[in-house]
Amino acid sequence: MLTQKEKKSLNPSSLQANGFPNPRSLSGGISGTKFQPISSSDFFGGKSNRQSLQQGEDESSGGTSLAKSTGPSDTDYQSMQVGTDGTFNLNSWDSAQHGLDFGFTTEGNMPVAVKNKLKLVADNLLYQNRTVKNLGSFPENFTLSLSINGSEFTRPKMSADEKKRYSGDTVFEFVRLKNGPKRKANIFVRELGADTVKAQMAGTGAHDKKIFDHYFTTDATWGNASELEMLYHAIAKIPASILAKVPSLVFKRKKMDDGEADPKQPHVMAKHTMKHSGESSIEVYDLAFEKSHIRFGDDQQGFSDNLTQTIVHEIGHALDSRVIRKGLSDSDNVSNDWQQAYEKEKLNEPICAEPGPYFESYCQDIKSKSSDLFSKHLQFKTALYQLRSESGEAYVASGNSLLYNDPKAKTGYLSALDKDQAKAGTLYGRKSRQENFAELFSLYILDTKRFSKMYPNVYAYFLKSFPK
Ligand SMILES: [Zn+2]
Repeated sequence: MLTQKEKKSLNPSSLQANGFPNPRSLSGGISGTKFQPISSSDFFGGKSNRQSLQQGEDESSGGTSLAKSTGPSDTDYQSMQVGTDGTFNLNSWDSAQHGLDFGFTTEGNMPVAVKNKLKLVADNLLYQNRTVKNLGSFPENFTLSLSINGSEFTRPKMSADEKKRYSGDTVFEFVRLKNGPKRKANIFVRELGADTVKAQMAGTGAHDKKIFDHYFTTDATWGNASELEMLYHAIAKIPASILAKVPSLVFKRKKMDDGEADPKQPHVMAKHTMKHSGESSIEVYDLAFEKSHIRFGDDQQGFSDNLTQTIVHEIGHALDSRVIRKGLSDSDNVSNDWQQAYEKEKLNEPICAEPGPYFESYCQDIKSKSSDLFSKHLQFKTALYQLRSESGEAYVASGNSLLYNDPKAKTGYLSALDKDQAKAGTLYGRKSRQENFAELFSLYILDTKRFSKMYPNVYAYFLKSFPK
């Protein structure tokens, strides 16, 4: 998830100095960011207001029934954001109702006890500061899927079928529609199906590890076997053809208190970093493993949890900047070869200055190799400056920065984004074009159907660039 953005720096020690904004605290995170701000028109220019609610939707007098509402349409989703921020735990919720007047609609047939519980959850979502950690309130045009355990609402009166239906964890999608004329908020809830996350984790094993090991490595910082299993499982959600585009990433497990995380930015979940040589890694922090009820996906695709979304988000960053990574790596290789040849030439200069058949060809060879490599080195450097990441970042060798946001960049992804004229796909995605790319990529992989409705053009572009 989000959480952090990768600080790409020439100087590794400065990586931590440039802390990432706290993704969980969006207002603080956004204002505190050192990233180049994106003009609001980048994300908020289009699709100003959705059509108003269908007639009749806001007619109900009671807060509990809005029978005429049909829930969000596909068009509604085009101005919607998905909740990815925060590790949300139902235990922290308030069991008291807050007396908020809001419309509440559920789809399909649900037992009253379930509806009542879901209404309480909706009440909590709307009640300022009692929602997803650090999210603040539950905004309009916002959707969040939560896994809720059946013990929260099973009652003795329920039928055997109902008890069976809610015997495990069930995922519900909460949608806050646009405010109606009479009511401040309208919440729509849909049951998405039995949560598959636990079962999937139980099936994680040699197969997922094999996929991981084929493309990536971990360093010695991982000690916890179950955390590694979760990492392997998250990676296995991404098709191999996509993983193959970002090979050789090193995954590192970082502790919140190991001195490397910026204490002012304690809510980093993970971070993608790239060095001047093109060497790239993904660091995963404690918070990424915190229990959360947030889910992605649906009954058909299966569900994913917070940790998985975080890892896929970071892979998204690696995919976004992969051309620059390759440019750096190519340039670095040529540069190293040239340096070596040059050093040899210098070393051999006194000898090469001596006339003699023995050294002549050897010295010629070294000298020509050196000058060839040097011109090649310059070529690679020049080409490197022309590269743009999908989200419009360019290489810059200045100060601590490795990359900068080129506002004039033109890429297939950016033009698809323009066509969709959509908001940032998630609240965290508002932070920068790069974060939005990583967020959208994670939704493309894990919450495909919902994503394709939100961003039809970016979806088409992703499907072409990263076929599944
Ligand atoms: Zn990020």
